[in-house]
Amino acid sequence: MADYIYTMELRLTPSQQKGVTLVQDIARNAGMNVYLTGGAVRDIITGFPIRDLDFTVQGNPLKLQKDFERSGAVIGGADDYFGTLYLTLPGSVRAEISSARLERHEKTGKPPVVTSATIIEDLRRRDFSVNAMALSLNPGSRGLLMDPFNGAADIEAKLVRILHNYAFVEDPSRLIRASRFAARFHWPLEERTQARYDSAKENNYIEYITDRAIGYEIEQLAYEDDPLNIIRIFEKEGWLKVLSPHWTTAKVDTNGLSQLMKTRQQMVDMGYAPAPAPAVLHFLTERLSEKESTDIRKMIPRRDLAEAWRDLEDHAKELSKRLTGKEAATPSRTWKLLSSARPEMVLFLAVTARQQAVAQKIKNFFTKWREVQQKVPLPEMTELLITPQLPQYPKVAEDVFMLLLDGKLRSRTERLNFLKPFAPPPPPPPPPPRRGRGAKAAAVPAPAQAVASVPGKAGKKKGKLEPAAPVPAKAAELAKPQKGAVRAAVATPKTPVAPQKKAAVIERKHVPEKKSAPAKKALTKPAKSASAKSKPKQKSKKH
Ligand code: ATP
Repeated sequence: MADYIYTMELRLTPSQQKGVTLVQDIARNAGMNVYLTGGAVRDIITGFPIRDLDFTVQGNPLKLQKDFERSGAVIGGADDYFGTLYLTLPGSVRAEISSARLERHEKTGKPPVVTSATIIEDLRRRDFSVNAMALSLNPGSRGLLMDPFNGAADIEAKLVRILHNYAFVEDPSRLIRASRFAARFHWPLEERTQARYDSAKENNYIEYITDRAIGYEIEQLAYEDDPLNIIRIFEKEGWLKVLSPHWTTAKVDTNGLSQLMKTRQQMVDMGYAPAPAPAVLHFLTERLSEKESTDIRKMIPRRDLAEAWRDLEDHAKELSKRLTGKEAATPSRTWKLLSSARPEMVLFLAVTARQQAVAQKIKNFFTKWREVQQKVPLPEMTELLITPQLPQYPKVAEDVFMLLLDGKLRSRTERLNFLKPFAPPPPPPPPPPRRGRGAKAAAVPAPAQAVASVPGKAGKKKGKLEPAAPVPAKAAELAKPQKGAVRAAVATPKTPVAPQKKAAVIERKHVPEKKSAPAKKALTKPAKSASAKSKPKQKSKKH
């Protein structure tokens, strides 16, 4: 059996993986079997991007609303009739949780009679073979792929195939879905599916489409990566006017839409994940009347999407106002404002801003200011040992970036003055070289530990780099932050050096070889006491 769990984990984004675990745990706690279904399974196998997660549970998912809310998910809408919950899971993961059900289509144009069912029965009510697969998320069968219509083979053959001859009669919205999937994947309809499609079109079955299905398909259009291509196909096939009677591609702001998708891609490349659906709907319906847009909005099953679309322009105006006010008086403040704004708002405003100042600020946020970010860390940060290992590093780096944005920290002195207070204490100096009898004692072969605790012979040579040695208590004390110590570190060469070598460089500066007798005395004291300690040992050896 192919390991679909491995493939799933490989293909899902980290947030989607967390989403799968979350849904799986909540369903399991409620005693419901849960499966990943529909487009998510299809896209795991095809390798196309996984846009959203569809789950099917054996039970009523509407009972799980509270659990989902407690776990940080946002309920975007619920459909009592079909037992479906529309969610946004933490990390902006779009998900749909449906009850495993059987749909009996008794009368064309009427909603089907819905009864609860097993997962296999549920797969039989689906639209196309490639969408009729389920992946078990249950203990004991986790990773088992259920594929009763051989969807995997149709993925291999790149075909859109209906499950039975009445697929389009039962639910004419499948005609629109067939066009959408064929256009998105560039997969043709399988031969018999094509024949049924043509016949359904000819017999105008589409007039029996329900309002619910219209709303659902408009919403799906908004999630497409290339909505312009899809809407053109819809127009050609005659489906666009089914979704809204006066909708044509002439009513679409095509420039705005392509600009939106381009900017969105740029943002994705920068690591943002703006949800473009509300803005897509805005541009798709730009030239429809207010009433027509409102009618469309009312049909969208996800209430949060409908509201986000409705409020888009107002929120953009608000952000635009803030960008021209005090809050964005400097580049650093503007950066903070744009970083904390919702990515989808920044995206929308980037495309629609009319004020030159606002457009320029957003442009800088995406381009010029990011180049400034590359200048952190400054060479002086490395020099002062302000490295990512320090707990205060992120804050210092952020402050440096903000100052650089505002054109500060131009000179080296300015940079050093700003950074010095954040510099960690320099590494402790190694013990000074031994002299006299102490050094002789050190030269005598000793147990491994003792050898490690005293400087070697090389330590005797003036000015030579000391080998590594453990930090004596006194030396550790010397390492406490002191102005002089920071100065010594600043005075080291520009090129970054490893801490051990650097210690040696500092040591050389601290221990004047001949002139400064007091300093020498102070630093050689511990060595003397070390040699004094070794004296009795020597004696006992002689005896
Ligand atoms: P994508 O989200 O990538 O557009 P999808 O297949 O997930 O593709 P959705 O519209 O999210 O599409 O639907 C989820 C699943 O629900 C589908 O894969 C399909 O199994 C089922 N489904 C949706 N609409 C219908 C329908 N009209 N008839 C039968 N099954 C449907």
